[in-house]
Amino acid sequence: MSHQAKKRFGQNFLVDEQIIAGIIAAIRPEPEDNMVEIGPGLGALTRPLLKKLNHLHVIEIDRDIIARLESDYPQENPPNPPLQKGGTSKSKLTIHAGDALEFDLSILPAPLRIVGNLPYNISSPLLFHFAGYAERIRDMHFMLQNEVVERMVAVPSTPAYGRLSVMLQYRFHMEKLLDVPPESFRPAPKVDSAIVRMIPLPPSDFPLSQKGAGGIFAQNEKIFAEIVKAAFGQRRKTLRNTLRSYLKEEDFVHLGMDAQRRAENLSVAEFAKVANYLDERA
Ligand code: SAM
Repeated sequence: MSHQAKKRFGQNFLVDEQIIAGIIAAIRPEPEDNMVEIGPGLGALTRPLLKKLNHLHVIEIDRDIIARLESDYPQENPPNPPLQKGGTSKSKLTIHAGDALEFDLSILPAPLRIVGNLPYNISSPLLFHFAGYAERIRDMHFMLQNEVVERMVAVPSTPAYGRLSVMLQYRFHMEKLLDVPPESFRPAPKVDSAIVRMIPLPPSDFPLSQKGAGGIFAQNEKIFAEIVKAAFGQRRKTLRNTLRSYLKEEDFVHLGMDAQRRAENLSVAEFAKVANYLDERA
């Protein structure tokens, strides 16, 4: 049965067997793993994963694809509405029909491994959604637009360093694993892709390391997120400008921070330091 790829669901299906094998080797699935795949599509990753796992959860939004999956993997306990905590389908594959952006990952068993060749049009909101479940997650392996992966792993004072780098590096150790060229997909996307591995940092290592050089953790993550957003709102402007409504001259002096610096020059730990200063002052 042929399937017409849908642009609105970011459908670019993996077809390169060597790349698929490389991704599965990077994930290293073990039979007992609690794994969920985001957007199984036509099953390029789903099939080899099922060969290694006792059970796999998938979350898919496209009704045509869901119908195919349900015919290939009959569901004895259809999880739509989603399964209650601890519930399982008797099938090796449990299909969750719906939007991954709204999916409550806490109904799945932890520690959870998340994998997926993500729809690129919603990749950043998806990453932020998953980050909210960091304490239940063992690791995540995603195919993303290469440009997004470069931003995720970027270090301070480089052009790719920004809000995405700071917000994700605060919670995860991240590593780019594999470059994936457009020809590996049908239809071929216009951009290069890459595989990234994300492992939640243990709370004792927030962010990067409390033990290591200058590591510090944010006591109030809401304030942390707010100032990171404000500081990168106009990345070429100085902190004196972008954080004007939070910090006065004397605050910069108190923090021992040059107000002439820009967001792109601040480490994750320095953002946490500013957030903690504001939290304590509140
Ligand atoms: N895993 C397949 C592969 O590697 O060939 C398909 C990858 S394709 C890039 C993205 C998949 O995510 C599609 O199957 C698409 O229908 C699905 N998808 C798109 N938006 C979604 C959403 N919000 N929630 C769940 N699945 C979604």
